[in-house]
Amino acid sequence: MSVLDLARAEVRALQAYSSARMEARPAEVMLNANESPWCLDGDSLGLNRYPEPQPEQLCARLGALYGVRPEQLLVGRGSDEAIDLLVRAFCRPGRDAIAICPPTFGMYAVCAAVQGAAVQSLACGADFRLDVTAMLSTLSPAVKLLFVCSPNNPTGDLVPLADIAQLAANLADRALVVVDEAYIEFADSPSAASLLAEYPNLAVLRTLSKAWALAGARIGSLLADAGVIALLRRIMPPYPLPLPSVTAAMAALGGDGEQRMQRRARKLASERERLRCALERLPGVRAVYPSQANFVTVRLDDATAIWHALAAQGIVVRDVGRYPQLANCLRISVGTPEENSRLLDALAQRAEVA
Ligand SMILES: *Cc1c(COP(=O)(O)O)cnc(C)c1O
Repeated sequence: MSVLDLARAEVRALQAYSSARMEARPAEVMLNANESPWCLDGDSLGLNRYPEPQPEQLCARLGALYGVRPEQLLVGRGSDEAIDLLVRAFCRPGRDAIAICPPTFGMYAVCAAVQGAAVQSLACGADFRLDVTAMLSTLSPAVKLLFVCSPNNPTGDLVPLADIAQLAANLADRALVVVDEAYIEFADSPSAASLLAEYPNLAVLRTLSKAWALAGARIGSLLADAGVIALLRRIMPPYPLPLPSVTAAMAALGGDGEQRMQRRARKLASERERLRCALERLPGVRAVYPSQANFVTVRLDDATAIWHALAAQGIVVRDVGRYPQLANCLRISVGTPEENSRLLDALAQRAEVA
């Protein structure tokens, strides 16, 4: 059985839209896409032309960065787009389901709801750790996609690669295991991409939105079996990647861009530990969860009051109290050293008043 047999039959049978850019490579005289023959004054990028559907140079660079062949990679508008494409390609409305391990990133359930797919929530163990044996024994047969976020948003904990391998091995021919590694650059663990060769039913989400400092460019990648990638390319809109975003990504990824990114990630991780230690000492703080990401989640006596006190000082953090098991929790993104100090000062001041 191929992993593609898990996908919706109508999507597999689909005749994909064939865009002008797909049918012919750029030529000297381009009269095939109803574009403007003129650039605007000051346009140095050539924005009068449609962009490449999957820009060759960007795909080659991202493939090298993530350790996959170009045919194992899909680049989209953030990893959010890949989540949506996966759900649409694999889940039949009203029949199939996704599985998630709450508390976790909200987009998986939103994409499932839009598609009309059910969401099975799997219980996690103490300290938000996944219990692989329990997950496998309770997983519904309707589940086509199991989303595992590592490091997890909003708890910050990492899922061991051995657990991911065990899930993929046990779900072969049954479901695709999708590992969301939006924060992996901040963690001291390698990517699950190294397991792709062994498990065709594994997929990995990566993004330039966090450690690469390009959230505004909207560039995310899906790494998966070449057949899965080819299938998703067929249901993706024809020109998903705006040229200015591709240009910004190429600039960030070129030269010593990777070393710069790593320096930022290391600095951020050290600030995260400084924040964690300082937060643990503050009165009113019940727990600071160990994090491998670029945020820390804290449990407080009164999260709403602290949220408002910080907002009054011009500091916004995320109230994650509505997530299961996270009552009275705030998620605090790690900022610059100055911003983190400002946050700690505001919290200490408030503690004095109380
Ligand atoms: C931020 C984040 C993403 C990134 O989404 P993009 O669409 O690539 O910006 C993906 N997954 C999780 C869990 C996130 O927190």
